[in-house]
Amino acid sequence: MNEDTAAAERLASGPRNGNDGAMKTSTAARTNGTNGRISRRTALGAGATVAAGVLLGPQLLAGATASRKVVVWSEGTANVDPGSKGIYPNDINTAIADGLKPLEGRGWVIVKASLNDPDQGLSDALLEQTDVLIWWGHKKHGQVKDELVAKIAERVKAGKMGFIGTHSAHFSKPLKKLLGTACSWREYVADGTSAEIIVKEPNHPICKGVKNFRLPQIERYGEPFAVPTPEAVPLDGIYTRPDGKTEPGRMGLCWTIGRGKVFYFTPGHETYNDYHRPEVRRILINAVEWAAPSSPSPAQGQ
Ligand code: ZN
Repeated sequence: MNEDTAAAERLASGPRNGNDGAMKTSTAARTNGTNGRISRRTALGAGATVAAGVLLGPQLLAGATASRKVVVWSEGTANVDPGSKGIYPNDINTAIADGLKPLEGRGWVIVKASLNDPDQGLSDALLEQTDVLIWWGHKKHGQVKDELVAKIAERVKAGKMGFIGTHSAHFSKPLKKLLGTACSWREYVADGTSAEIIVKEPNHPICKGVKNFRLPQIERYGEPFAVPTPEAVPLDGIYTRPDGKTEPGRMGLCWTIGRGKVFYFTPGHETYNDYHRPEVRRILINAVEWAAPSSPSPAQGQ
């Protein structure tokens, strides 16, 4: 039982009629909020619900008010490698998490995780609370334990968590496990190529508030990309090589795997500042909300 459920059960078992009941409940909720165990919004919502005399079971009440959690995982190399540590001194998970801050105002909790953390950053307890997992890796894919990968894939397929892989995470174990293909591109070239990122499906939730934009430098990932046919490609792209030649490359691809949503975003090479750019941050915010399970998972509601 988590704190939300505990609070909800206290509400459900307490007096419900009259001002006395509402006041006691509000006080209890405020106390919990002060301790940081349930949010202010939860406390206010719970107080108002009881004051209005609406009877809700503990699960309904907890489910209606539970916050959602996005975990941003990276492998701890971008902050160490000489070519990237100046851009990502606190690793890429920090840069991505900073860009997601607006989600906090919409009930999201943002958690950073690293391969270097205990349990490789994802304990069973954390994973069971995670609605969306964002993954960046490059040099240490092989170190991620297969047991953890299996748990991630299982949770996505069960519709309990969305998964977002970005850039070199195309070769990450979780993405390969979910998509079931090699997930390789034809080539990988960082030669001063630039790219126009094109909003191909303006009505797709991932493109909300996003217009075409240019990345002055990008590592060119040459098509074809060995993945299953995506259900949507909301973001397309045109690479321009140093010699002026252009070629297409998909930049944002969506799948539904089992009952879970998966998004892959092509930019994000560690020596470029993509994750500090407002357009990229907007896309990742949108992707988190798109990938989130449509209702809170049982792990959160009970
Ligand atoms: Zn790269």
